[in-house]
Amino acid sequence: MKLTFLGTGTSTGVPSIGCECETCLSEDARDKRLRVSILVEHGGQTVLVDTSSDFRQQALRQRIRWLDAILITHCHADHIFGLDDIRPLNFRHGSLGVYANERAWKDIRRIFQYIFEPSYIGGGLPQVIPHTVEAGASFCVGPDLLVTPLEVIHGRLPVVAYRFNDFAYATDLSEIPPATIAGLRGLDVLVLDCLRFRPHPTHLWLERALSYISEIKPRRAYLTHLAHDVLHARDSAKLPDGVEFAYDNLVISDE
Ligand SMILES: [Zn+2]
Ligand SMILES: [Zn+2]
Repeated sequence: MKLTFLGTGTSTGVPSIGCECETCLSEDARDKRLRVSILVEHGGQTVLVDTSSDFRQQALRQRIRWLDAILITHCHADHIFGLDDIRPLNFRHGSLGVYANERAWKDIRRIFQYIFEPSYIGGGLPQVIPHTVEAGASFCVGPDLLVTPLEVIHGRLPVVAYRFNDFAYATDLSEIPPATIAGLRGLDVLVLDCLRFRPHPTHLWLERALSYISEIKPRRAYLTHLAHDVLHARDSAKLPDGVEFAYDNLVISDE
C-alpha cells in the first residue's frame, strides 16, 4: 500500500490569498498546502480520493496517467471542484468510476448538471460512471484493494471516510460515530482531519483529533486539512510520538 498526499490544506489552501502570517509567508515547502486529496496505490490499482479544486495541478505534479477509481468524501467545493479536469484521462482511457454517498451525488448532479444532463453536443464532457456507496458496504478495486466506506459527521453533514485494507482516510469531520470507531480498529495508518489548535464547529482541532487517535489506536497517524494556524516546523513538537502533520507530496508506504 502506498499513500501519497496530493494536498493537505484547508478549503482556502495555504498560503491563503492576501494573508501575511508566518505560515503564509513561510518558505518551508511543508507549509504550502493545496486542497486536500490523496492517491492510494495497491495491487496495480490507483485510486484518487476527491477531485479537489487543485486536482489539475496535483495530477500534473504527481504525473498521474490513469486512475482506476475516484472516491468522493463529500460535495464541498474544495473536494469536488476539480471534477471537470478528469477529461484528459477520459480522452485517453475512457469513462471513470466515481464513488460517493447518496447525499453527495444529489449535490454533484446539481452542481455539475452539464455532465449528467448535457444541453449541447461535443465540447468534451467528463465521462463518469456513478456508484453510490453505503457505510459498511465494502467493495474491491482490482483483485486486492478492499475499500470500506465509513460514515463520519461534518457539522451535520454525513461524510464518507474510506478504509483501504489497514490504511484509513477520514477528513472533514467533527464527530466519529461509534460504528465507525469500530470499523477503524487495527489500523497501520490513520489520516485524520485536524484544522487547527482552536475549536471549530465542523472540523476536528488538535485536542479532539488526538483524543480520537488515542481511542482508535492506529500504529501511525497523520493530520490533514490544515489551516495556516499550523507552522510545520514549529508545531510538530506539539505532537505525541506516532502522530505527524501531513504535508503535500509526503508518501507513506507499508512496503
Ligand atoms: Zn474540506
Ligand atoms: Zn467540507
